[in-house]
Amino acid sequence: MSDTLFHKVWDAHAVRTLPSGQTQLFVGLHLVHEVTTPQAFDMMRQHGWRVACPERTFATIDHIVPTLSQRRPFLDVVAEEMSVALERNCRDAGIRLWTPDSDEQGIVHVIGPELGLTQPGMTIACGDSHTSTHGALGAIAFGIGTSQVRDVLTSQCLALDPLKVRRIDVNGRLNRGVYAKDVILTVIRRLGVQGGVGYAYEYGGATIDAMTIDERMTICNMSIEGGARVGYVNPDETTFAYVRGRRYAPSGDAFDRAVRWWKSMASDRDARYDDRVAFDASSVEPTVTWGINPGQSVAVSEPIDAEPEDEALAFMGFRPGARVRGTRIDVAFIGSCTNSRLSDLEAAAEVVRGHHVAPHVKALVVPGSRAVSRAAEARGLHEVFIDAGFEWRGAGCSMCLGMNPDKLEGRQVSASSSNRNFKGRQGSPTGRTLLMSPAMVAAAAIAGEVVDVREVL
Ligand code: SF4
Repeated sequence: MSDTLFHKVWDAHAVRTLPSGQTQLFVGLHLVHEVTTPQAFDMMRQHGWRVACPERTFATIDHIVPTLSQRRPFLDVVAEEMSVALERNCRDAGIRLWTPDSDEQGIVHVIGPELGLTQPGMTIACGDSHTSTHGALGAIAFGIGTSQVRDVLTSQCLALDPLKVRRIDVNGRLNRGVYAKDVILTVIRRLGVQGGVGYAYEYGGATIDAMTIDERMTICNMSIEGGARVGYVNPDETTFAYVRGRRYAPSGDAFDRAVRWWKSMASDRDARYDDRVAFDASSVEPTVTWGINPGQSVAVSEPIDAEPEDEALAFMGFRPGARVRGTRIDVAFIGSCTNSRLSDLEAAAEVVRGHHVAPHVKALVVPGSRAVSRAAEARGLHEVFIDAGFEWRGAGCSMCLGMNPDKLEGRQVSASSSNRNFKGRQGSPTGRTLLMSPAMVAAAAIAGEVVDVREVL
């Protein structure tokens, strides 16, 4: 019977129906990091439980690592303690861990695909909301909380309610200066930040088909910001070409067998969906958030469309009907698991080349992984950024969240390629975040204010 990838993968991993009505779902890959694991391991220790499948569990240190200097011990005592705890827990359990001094360290959602750990047809769990990123390769990937991290460590299973599936078709050609980030911000703006609650989002259509895996990761990454628990793209030749040859990917005959299975897991042409929506890519413009959730966005050419009493306006310092364009920025941040891959840095460097960061702007480029950093340096991108006045940092989550020394101060305004603009997200309770594509961040850094990257290009 024809079905969606979501249901096929779900059924293939369902262990049983629990008395609660939930499904006990086997987790093929568990990615862990330093922030959501210490308590999980402590709880296990108290009960004398062991890690069920260390060979399916992989760890990195990303959230709390400083990006200016990653020498140990970290100056931040809490960060150092968290790192030491993860190192000890991984050593005791036999879990592979990439620390900041290893060549493969990076943001958990960057290194998973990079190393070939993320593969089509998998179930993946990680104690970070943006685990949906891995859906770009045709996996069903769940962000989970600390108690669920404990459950997966102990049993390699999760208790979950099934989801409905919404098909999101994007067709048409993206205009120059418009990127995957603009597409997903437009999707969230239209469907709402709660619009995806209870759903898995399946992205398809000619625009998505034409996207690289990096671009699909940007799209899937922000599914959670639209309320969806999961976001994915059906695996295709682009996916197989991306996975082939990566360290943990199958090779030789095993790869060919895997491709046959991956193809069989893709949604059937006549699969039925619980809902369908369509977007015209050619009408998407460079998009910028003006508010305090990722759905509060606007095309850079448009005025803000909000009720005068909306508290987000007051917090952000905008008047109803004002434009985000022209807003003076203090910080420009290119990074995070949404937009810190090589292609993101290339897009930003195209804007930056030959220009200089405005004198009042602090501008950071934080590659998503050591591998991205090496690849960018091999292409000379670091010199483009450094020559322009950007700081070229070590890999990590950095200013995506205020858990490391990279933080906004006071009421600073940040042009950011990350995924959340909640109050306080970037480390200052009163700091203001404007989400946009890396190219738009680069253009804002140069101009010192939000501009339309299409005019710069
Ligand atoms: S970059 Fe941000 S969203 Fe991504 S894993 Fe790190 S903290 Fe989470």
